[in-house]
This record gives sequence, C-alpha cells and structure tokens, in this order.
Amino acid sequence: MFIDIDKLSKEGLRVSRDFEFLSIDLVEENAVSLEPVHAEVTVRKVGEEILIKGRMTARLSLDCSRCLAPYEVAVDSCFDLVYLSEELDLIREELDEDDVNRVFYRERQLDLKEIILEQLNLTFPAKPLCSPNCEGICAICGKVRKHSGCDCSEKAPDPRFQKLKISIRDKK
Ligand SMILES: [Zn+2]
Ligand SMILES: [Zn+2]
Repeated sequence: MFIDIDKLSKEGLRVSRDFEFLSIDLVEENAVSLEPVHAEVTVRKVGEEILIKGRMTARLSLDCSRCLAPYEVAVDSCFDLVYLSEELDLIREELDEDDVNRVFYRERQLDLKEIILEQLNLTFPAKPLCSPNCEGICAICGKVRKHSGCDCSEKAPDPRFQKLKISIRDKK
C-alpha cells in the first residue's frame, strides 16, 4: 500500500487495515504469521517530515530456542516514526544525534506494508522462549523435558547422598 506524500491532506491520513505476510518476509526463520496483521495508523506531513504513528496487532508462531517447539505469541505494538525525504539525505551528516533513527523515503512515496513489516520484525525476541522457564531438551536422553517427563536427573546420584554415605562410614 503506497502513500503518496504530495497527496497527503493537512489533517493527514488514517489507515485501518490488515496486511498479510509470508514466512519468507519475517526475520525469524520458521516464524509463521497465523492471521493477517492488523494496523491502525495515522500519517501526517509536517514540513518535510512524515510522521507515522500507529499500533499493530498480530498472532505469530515462533520456534522456542530451547525446546525447538512452536508456540504462539500475541503481538500488540505501538510505533512512532519520522520519515524524511531522501533529498535531505545529502545533509544526513549534519543532522543531530536525535535524528539518527530517522528513516528516509524515496520518490515522494511511502510503502505502508513495508513499514508495518519492519515494525513487526522489530517485535521478534532475540531468543524466543515458549516459557521463561522452559527446560529445553535433556542433554542425557535428548527428549523435550516438559513433554516426556524425563527422569534422567532423578536417576543420577545426588552428590549430597554420596557425601552422607561417606561420613556415616567414617563414624563406624
Ligand atoms: Zn521451550
Ligand atoms: Zn532425559
């Protein structure tokens, strides 16, 4: 969905729509967008700056980085962006530090779908976890711990009991 910068009215533009993304668009390998991403966005032009403010909701399936099982994530994210004309790119070095995060638009157009995708990709966790205390895969039997109820750790002798046996023997 392209927004024509020069056709933006003074009041700006309100957009409420769904965007569909394929797994190949997503930054995380194996991630799946389970339903269209819904976005509510306002686009305003102030001088040469384009202000994009909005909120998106999405439902994703990610693979847990510990147990490798897919799990669902509800995304609800707000964003507040400033885009500058690429023509101003020439003076990029003169912009102060606050402007570093600003993005540039080309050919008097903004691709809203591209912007939503970028924002969606930014919500991905660096280390996806199905639960904060996911125990992952057992290093001994290779089974996913939460599902198999693997008892490898119970079978392993507890070092405290070993010590106890020794001290009892010493007393005799
Ligand atoms: Zn997990
Ligand atoms: Zn095990």
